[in-house]
Amino acid sequence: MTQVYGIIGYPLGHSLSPYMHSRYAYYLNESQEYHIFECTPDKLEDTVQKLHRNNVQGLNVTLPYKQEIQRFLCDIDDAALKIGAVNTLKYNVNGYAGFNTDYIGLKNSLDSADISLKNHNVLILGAGGAARAVAYLARKEGCNELTILNRTLSNAERICGDFGGRALDYSMIDCLKSHYIVFQATKVGMHPATDEVLPLPDTIYSHFEAAVDLIYNPLETLFLRKSKYLGLKTLNGFKMLIEQGLESRRIWNPSETITDDIKKKVYDECIDYKWS
Ligand code: NAP
Repeated sequence: MTQVYGIIGYPLGHSLSPYMHSRYAYYLNESQEYHIFECTPDKLEDTVQKLHRNNVQGLNVTLPYKQEIQRFLCDIDDAALKIGAVNTLKYNVNGYAGFNTDYIGLKNSLDSADISLKNHNVLILGAGGAARAVAYLARKEGCNELTILNRTLSNAERICGDFGGRALDYSMIDCLKSHYIVFQATKVGMHPATDEVLPLPDTIYSHFEAAVDLIYNPLETLFLRKSKYLGLKTLNGFKMLIEQGLESRRIWNPSETITDDIKKKVYDECIDYKWS
């Protein structure tokens, strides 16, 4: 029987997920459909209920619903609860259960780039949902100092309240004295505003050991370009995007085996699809 999956968000015009999951289904020879379920905020609850009634087996959840969707679930796993964001739903008879695969996607992406957080200082730029996933992972991996630098100090303080660490705003940037693996977790520099960059003084880059930007469009933000120019190891958000999708599949169908060969093919095809 054909299994139906999909993505909920608004707007969803440029989502890569339908293409990505259709390629996995092709290589795995699975009868599967993956649809876009774009809905406005006032229709979110109805949409979730309708998809459940129609036996949609799994869903990805994207902006702006990663927080709000939690109200309509029958269960939420511990990591998603701590992060405060759900990006994957799995069908249960009583409703959908919620998970967060962003932090696992990030972990797998860091591993593939040989970036370890254990005993390293971590600096997160931004204090939204993505920053919370990074903070959760940093603590899980046993980072040393955790610092959140954000435009609005109170938002950084809220994350530090949950994960420990030091909250700063841009007027306090001179406090950064150690060396850090830095995560750019804001939308600044994202398509179409690719000429934007956070207000970081040039001198601060000498405190960075490696620079990770969660943005995947463009593949190289101005922040990453500058970091690379200064000789830092850099990583963009594309691998994280692919890995979080793969992790969703593991939740939906734990017995599915995706070989490294299939992973590589789908990764390369997704890059071509998005940027050719
Ligand atoms: P979000 O909740 O909207 O992030 C907001 C954060 O960005 C806040 O801390 C906000 O500061 C800061 N910010 C926004 N505009 C700013 C500006 N002009 N100057 C300085 N700071 C600014 O978004 P999110 O969900 O956390 O996502 C953040 C980024 O991560 C996005 O680019 C998203 O595409 C990316 N992401 C990638 C993946 C992946 O798989 N690669 C997964 C998830 C997210 P205030 O608190 O002051 O408002």
